[in-house]
Amino acid sequence: MMANLRDFELTEDEHAADIVVVNSCTVTNGADSGVRNYINHVSKEGKKVIVAGCGAMSKGESLFAQKKVFGVMGHSEKAHINTLLKHDRPFFEIGDLTSLDETIVHEYTGKTKAFIKIQEGCNFRCAYCIIPFVRGNARSQDENTIVEQVRKLALNGYGEFVLTGTNIGSYGKDKGSSLGKLVQRLGAIRGVRRIRLGSIEPIQIDESFREILREPWLERHLHIALQHTSETMLELMRRRNRVMHDLELFCELSEQGFALGTDFITGHPGESEAIWQEAYRTLEKFPLTHLHAFTYSKRDGTPSALMKPEIKGDIAKERLKQIEALVHAKNIAFRQARRHVALDVLVEEYKDGLFIGYDQFFNKVTLQSERDVLKEWVNVASYEILGECNHANF
Ligand code: SF4
Repeated sequence: MMANLRDFELTEDEHAADIVVVNSCTVTNGADSGVRNYINHVSKEGKKVIVAGCGAMSKGESLFAQKKVFGVMGHSEKAHINTLLKHDRPFFEIGDLTSLDETIVHEYTGKTKAFIKIQEGCNFRCAYCIIPFVRGNARSQDENTIVEQVRKLALNGYGEFVLTGTNIGSYGKDKGSSLGKLVQRLGAIRGVRRIRLGSIEPIQIDESFREILREPWLERHLHIALQHTSETMLELMRRRNRVMHDLELFCELSEQGFALGTDFITGHPGESEAIWQEAYRTLEKFPLTHLHAFTYSKRDGTPSALMKPEIKGDIAKERLKQIEALVHAKNIAFRQARRHVALDVLVEEYKDGLFIGYDQFFNKVTLQSERDVLKEWVNVASYEILGECNHANF
């Protein structure tokens, strides 16, 4: 949206703005109410409010009918933001769920790494998830468009690229290509030093993907979404992954030196104490280093919202804490086992006297340095292993 805005002055300070564009999330009922509250709050300050993003797809119609927003801008309409914001009458432009934004971004304000959206939408239908209904089916960005974008950003000095999308592992399936083939092309671009992949699904790790695993530009960290480690829960959640296959896959990748992260939901309906105990014991066997876990949050309109028995929030929270502690301990053990490996760090931030960045295993590194190393790549051979991060005097 920022790249397409030409005739307006941009501010990230909402008090200084005349128009507020809310790029909203709708993933849980809580996200919806957060968006509604925020819209009410900025409307009261007399701002012209435009709702965009997934909330526009799910709640845009009712917000518009209730005159809570001046305009509704669907995903496919974001490219037309410059024209839409000039409307002097309320507008409802929901667009469609089949197109893909082809905007080429050359710069990211204040960011050291570049985020490349390679696809949109998802063909899976996990029982708890609303995303396919607000993002549509999977469709891939043209390979040459992505290559061109990465080439331009690399020329502008970006070295780290993060590939994003709704379900990036499905990249290329609609175009006779694959994620592996795309990443192979991107890695060959001059100036590309590290490629990080967003979340992928276990069943999407195919032969073409295995071919890139040894490439030096591939981050030594992969994020593979499991969501659960109980076979019963995976079936209830209508997931396509299966526990024994997942475990074999994780062990295979770990043996190749990868740090491995996953997503996990605790407290989905049906997660009895016996199921939980079994899932936890199985999770202990996974060579994990990173975790992105949530307690289940009901989303109206999904099959899971009607499932019983529901699990109490405090039980779900307790289970979340247990697996967070487990993976945190595994992360420290991983770092200790590799304490002689030099870290390749892209420094992203300077805060409270410390430079902060991430290494090739996607672990946080803090640096004390006399020299200004912000936005630089630094190689750290000796460092201390702390609870939350690695630390070095540089
Ligand atoms: S794969 Fe991810 S985005 Fe797709 S339905 Fe499942 S949870 Fe939602």
